[in-house]
Amino acid sequence: MKIARFTHAASTRIGIVLGDSIVDLAVQAPELPRDMIALLAAGAPALERARQAGGSGRPIPLAEVRLEAPVPHPQEFLAIGLNYADHIAESKARPPEFPVFFNKQTTCVTGPYDPIHLPRVSKALDYEGELGFVIGRRCRHVPRDRAHEVIAGFLIVNDVSVRDWQMRAPTHTLGKSFDTHGPIGPWLVTPDEAGDPHSLELRTFVNGELRQHSNTRNLVFDCYAQIETLSKVFTLTPGMVISTGTPSGVGAAMNPPRFLKTGDIVRVEVERIGHIENRVIDEPADSSAI
Ligand code: ZN
Repeated sequence: MKIARFTHAASTRIGIVLGDSIVDLAVQAPELPRDMIALLAAGAPALERARQAGGSGRPIPLAEVRLEAPVPHPQEFLAIGLNYADHIAESKARPPEFPVFFNKQTTCVTGPYDPIHLPRVSKALDYEGELGFVIGRRCRHVPRDRAHEVIAGFLIVNDVSVRDWQMRAPTHTLGKSFDTHGPIGPWLVTPDEAGDPHSLELRTFVNGELRQHSNTRNLVFDCYAQIETLSKVFTLTPGMVISTGTPSGVGAAMNPPRFLKTGDIVRVEVERIGHIENRVIDEPADSSAI
């Protein structure tokens, strides 16, 4: 099942995607929560109801809706550095013995087809195509062999990075957290439909040119290992977004580096999930700026 957030006729709702159309849960299952995190937290019965509703009603063509970030305000947005062997090599780093997690500020989340900003304060804008997953239930101390039970679904993340800011501090947080630098989507694909999350082809294109191509089987710490590690430390909660790392081919590792410019279009595709596509624009004037 593909669960999407979409805007149509000036309101944003949750829907079930079927082929090239979407069934509006607000119409077909009005008793279900209208908020994605609340829907996921309602658990298996609610998702089963959503699945049934997806098979009924009059779908809206996807071409008539705007897809939004599936989880617009996650409580946490974590990502992991140096998690594909080829990216470790191009970064001239040593393979980590322990997963290197960092935070993206949740305010960076944006939609699957929304623009990403070239910051006023840097020209070192880069892409990182990644598979992400979303936690579906409150959990702690999840053993690896049960980690699949706590995943609500998978989505695509562009872990947009501002390399000079990223490298100024070992936490990486500021360089990973500029507004609009967390495009996610295009929808949440439930585990039954995604299949094995560790055999998915991943590709990133800039203006149609293939820049990254790998398969999630090459993850150093796979999704389940990541859940096991994180849940030893803190309680995972529904809606938490975790991005699993990027393969080689980032712009910063090229010689000379090829950073993103205004007008560039970055597309990330993951097999069985879909694609997201974001255009780079100059950071606009902001009415809240001082
Ligand atoms: Zn990343």
